[in-house]
Amino acid sequence: MKPVLKLFLLPLVFGVSSLPGIPETPATVTETAVTPSCKAGALTQGGLLLCHGEPGTLVRMNGSAVAKFDETGRASVGLQQHSPTSFTITLQEQGTTISEDITIAERNDEYRTLTGLDCDKVDARTQEQKDHAGRSWVKKQDAWVKFNDGPGFFDGAIKPAEGPTSSPFGPTRKYTGVSKTSGESCESTSVHRGQDFATPVGTPVVSPADGVIILADPDLYYEGGSVFVDHGQGLISVFMHLSSVDVEDGQVVTAGQQIAKTGNTGRTTGPHLHWAIKWRNTASDNRGDDFYIDPALLMDGLKLPG
Ligand SMILES: [Zn+2]
Repeated sequence: MKPVLKLFLLPLVFGVSSLPGIPETPATVTETAVTPSCKAGALTQGGLLLCHGEPGTLVRMNGSAVAKFDETGRASVGLQQHSPTSFTITLQEQGTTISEDITIAERNDEYRTLTGLDCDKVDARTQEQKDHAGRSWVKKQDAWVKFNDGPGFFDGAIKPAEGPTSSPFGPTRKYTGVSKTSGESCESTSVHRGQDFATPVGTPVVSPADGVIILADPDLYYEGGSVFVDHGQGLISVFMHLSSVDVEDGQVVTAGQQIAKTGNTGRTTGPHLHWAIKWRNTASDNRGDDFYIDPALLMDGLKLPG
């Protein structure tokens, strides 16, 4: 038998049905088959496909394995900032392969130049700074290795802190500045791989979805106070520059639960919250396949699978 995923839906029983002489309609169970598909989510470069399929099987994009269905038959496929705008997804089911041609929207990210870079904070210079940066790097790499079960963003994503967006995901930023200690100029070019919210120090930060805390550290070298939440589906929320870390490694959190307070720690140019979402390929042990996706696309306009 060809496997299908089933949702069991209870029809609503209306309270007005108890009219004289009309028997109440008994509640019945309706079966609705969910067709294996990846056509939900945020269908934009930098977005995320939400897929249904057979637990344990692979999702392939243009032939390459990009995700593995979890025990609930769900998988999340990240779309790179410069992903092709049309591609073919194939889903393996027992005995058959389902192909879907998917077209996604193109993004148009800015290129910005910013001055006032604190050159002395760009790179670790002193031995103490290098050691600090090295320890921070190891903690982050350790955090990416393990996969936890969870809903990912199949239940949506809520805004993690009150405050306007001060920088979206995607722009390339070139920073220039002068060292206060040596007087030498410096520059640094990077792509902004998260979304910044302008927040006064001490603004509560809540988890955007259910998850498990996989890193809670008050003092990473570049990131400052940091909390990483593994939402499952290979998806991790990364929060940086925090003034207070209110959770511990291994703690289970629910959507909307406070996990930290915003701050101005690490490499910053002012108080704000940086929220990044790392997507990891659940079909691969090579963490070099991982990349960041656009949080705004998950908060706004995420099409949840039916
Ligand atoms: Zn940022």
